[in-house]
Amino acid sequence: MHIKIILRLIVVTLLFKSALWGSEIEKKIPILCYHRFGNNINDSMTIKTSEFAAQLAWLKANNYSVISLDSAIKYLIGEIKTIPDKPVVITADDGHKSIYYEMAPLIREYRIPVTLFIYPSAISNTNYTMTWEQLQKLEETKFFHVESHTFWHPNFKQEKKRLLSEEYAKFVDKQIVGSKQMLEKKMGHEVKYLAWAFGIYDYELITKAVQSGYVAAFTIEQRHAAKSDTLMTLPRYMITSIYNIKAFEQLLTDAK
Ligand SMILES: [Zn+2]
Repeated sequence: MHIKIILRLIVVTLLFKSALWGSEIEKKIPILCYHRFGNNINDSMTIKTSEFAAQLAWLKANNYSVISLDSAIKYLIGEIKTIPDKPVVITADDGHKSIYYEMAPLIREYRIPVTLFIYPSAISNTNYTMTWEQLQKLEETKFFHVESHTFWHPNFKQEKKRLLSEEYAKFVDKQIVGSKQMLEKKMGHEVKYLAWAFGIYDYELITKAVQSGYVAAFTIEQRHAAKSDTLMTLPRYMITSIYNIKAFEQLLTDAK
């Protein structure tokens, strides 16, 4: 009898403690990175629009909360204490026109936030990217928000080898500061986040980004973002058509 009571007390104490700990457990956040959408897969960066739709339906059915990148960063730096359970962030890089025609209708349907990482040299300048007017229309929906992806998406490693150090310094300034300034002017709001082009960064680039006023920057390392991560090299999962729903589920549930 005594033993039973003691055991019960131990169990109750453990449950109580785990409930307390549970409320304090840090959430890790998967940040997804998309590029292009379409009915046919013509390149490795494209996901079928129907597959993207299936992913959004799966997230909803499984009680995931798509939160804004801004909320995720504020949580990671401790500015906000709580975010919903099962958080996930959606971003899309490069400003391809399929974001406007294929992705945006689904985003409006699900009413979820998306961050677009844009390199301004391409906007209104090529037949495969969006125009400034289209970007502004997306922001008017309040679901989309534009941030920086350097000025013209260079390969910093190659440019560093190619240019003299003084030229390279100017080049870096244009790519990191110039992009921020142009996007702020065109979009009419502060630009705080930077996605490294090709995921390439080094100490010098990070220093420049911090000095320019960026709050956080993003790579394409495949794992969840955590409070222990460096803010200037936060990981993101590149999502393409190699992820069927099962792989997508595994990616979200495997907090690496
Ligand atoms: Zn890119």
